[in-house]
Amino acid sequence: MTDTDSKPSLNFVQQMVEADRESGKHDGRVHTRFPPEPNGYLHIGHAKSICLNFGLAQQYDGLCNLRFDDTNPVKEEEEFVQSIMEDVRWLGFDWGDRLYYASDYFPQLYDWAVELIKKGLAYVCDLSSEETREYRGTLTAPGRNSPYRDRSVEENLDLFARMKAGEFADGSRTLRAKIDMASPNVNLRDPVMYRILKATHHRTGDQWAIYPMYDFTHGQSDSLEQITHSICTLEFENHRPLYDWFLDALEIYHPQQIEFARLNLTYTVMSKRKLHQLVSEGHVSGWNDPRMPTLCGLRRRGFTPEAIRSFCERIGVAKFNSTIDVVVLENSVREDLNRQAARAMAVLRPLRVVIENYPEGESELLEAVNNPEDPDAGTRQIPFSKVLYIERDDFMEDPPKKFFRLAPGREVRLRYAFFIKCVDVVKDDTGEVVELRCTYDPETRGGSAPDGRKVKATLHWVSAEHAFTTEVRLYDHLFRQESPEDVPEGQDYRVNLNPSSLETIPQAQLEPSLATAEPGARYQFERLGYFCADSEDSLPGRPVFNRTVTLRDQWAKLAKRQNHRKKA
Ligand code: ATP
Ligand code: MG
Repeated sequence: MTDTDSKPSLNFVQQMVEADRESGKHDGRVHTRFPPEPNGYLHIGHAKSICLNFGLAQQYDGLCNLRFDDTNPVKEEEEFVQSIMEDVRWLGFDWGDRLYYASDYFPQLYDWAVELIKKGLAYVCDLSSEETREYRGTLTAPGRNSPYRDRSVEENLDLFARMKAGEFADGSRTLRAKIDMASPNVNLRDPVMYRILKATHHRTGDQWAIYPMYDFTHGQSDSLEQITHSICTLEFENHRPLYDWFLDALEIYHPQQIEFARLNLTYTVMSKRKLHQLVSEGHVSGWNDPRMPTLCGLRRRGFTPEAIRSFCERIGVAKFNSTIDVVVLENSVREDLNRQAARAMAVLRPLRVVIENYPEGESELLEAVNNPEDPDAGTRQIPFSKVLYIERDDFMEDPPKKFFRLAPGREVRLRYAFFIKCVDVVKDDTGEVVELRCTYDPETRGGSAPDGRKVKATLHWVSAEHAFTTEVRLYDHLFRQESPEDVPEGQDYRVNLNPSSLETIPQAQLEPSLATAEPGARYQFERLGYFCADSEDSLPGRPVFNRTVTLRDQWAKLAKRQNHRKKA
């Protein structure tokens, strides 16, 4: 899509919704839902689903519910419920007063199960889970009927009531739908509707000894909430006939299930099970570690909600699975921060520079532009004095041909300040350069020479006595392989963890204006990238910074890589 397109082309879900509105289906209403299971923190894949569901509601003047799909008492926790609400709001979406829990529907679901038993469409089965699997058959072989399939309605009603009353051991019986053990769709081979599980649920406590399965919960929850378009990921495509079967059998309001491709990203694992493992085994510092693909991790890293929404817009919605290059995500935040972030100067690996002809004990203020992309952002004053720091790798004693930065005898520009020239190099006993002696040209104040002479490089710098020292963290991908899950037999994605995904710089030197940065504040450190004041470890007056992303625009690299792939 370009800026000049008046109407962007519609994705296939929007096309379906528009067709439904035209035909008057669901009275032209659009009502979607985002249905997370509260068993982990939301990740960037969920953002795709959130943007799609809430986005459709916004676009078509409809509604979108937030529904916790909390049918598994064992893995679900209140902590996750809270974090999910926080993350959806942070992304910029609002469910109004429509916050629902599938667990609120347990009584209704129970009544519907009883109704199906009465209709002869459900039965209590005593097969163990292993036997159930055996009887189910395979993709190529039909299943066999359970020996309990023909129990009478009375016996089924009695057993199901006693299952609910907690009379039987966990896993000893199930309630199953009576559909077709020979169906080519395995999901229709008498799927389990209820299991016995004496576990404490995060909301219903010990009230229930039986819990409904996802397939017996999801469609009915959609129906109760009058959802029009129930959007889920592709792996549920084979469940759609079952979704439809339950709604038809119960003769209740029937939403349309639509499947789309889930988001996969290079250098990233996305399943909650694996994210749990990364946290519990200490490979990362927590769910909000800035290297995690979770929304709280991305937030702490410095991503903006706008950047994530524009990423979701950019990747689109399709019907086939694919993997998006993580560069696309990085570029979205780079673009947004280029517009929004104030500029500042920070020196990560300081090299001392003494300006020999600058008066001892004096300093002056120089004017610096806060954001060249935003004229309203104004300017600030930065102090200049006799002793400065520049970046260690901006100096080379014996520079190769293409190195244009500082070297003995060479003149460069200090950003917003003066031209300086290196006149001497001071080394310690080991031969390491510890200080540069330079001169400055007072005539070049502001960065240009009245005599028109040019320099080939502009360096960032800070004044040593005015700068403050703090920790800065640089990140690389958490995994060193593009597809972390591609591993040899017997290994798993963890062998691909990148041992150098975090680099901590304990004593970076930052310009004084950064000392008052509030946690979460975002900056561009000139020439180094975009950085965000850490929300966990910053102290008043001493913020700690995380690098969100480097400055380098990697689109060229990406285009090259894709060309390469096409040729291959
Ligand atoms: P995971 O596989 O990571 O555990 P899930 O599908 O079990 O995810 P849910 O909490 O059930 O997680 O997901 C809530 C909603 O988000 C579902 O509608 C699901 O389809 C969607 N979703 C989850 N992961 C992705 C993804 N990678 N891309 C797009 N949508 C996703
Ligand atoms: Mg799920």
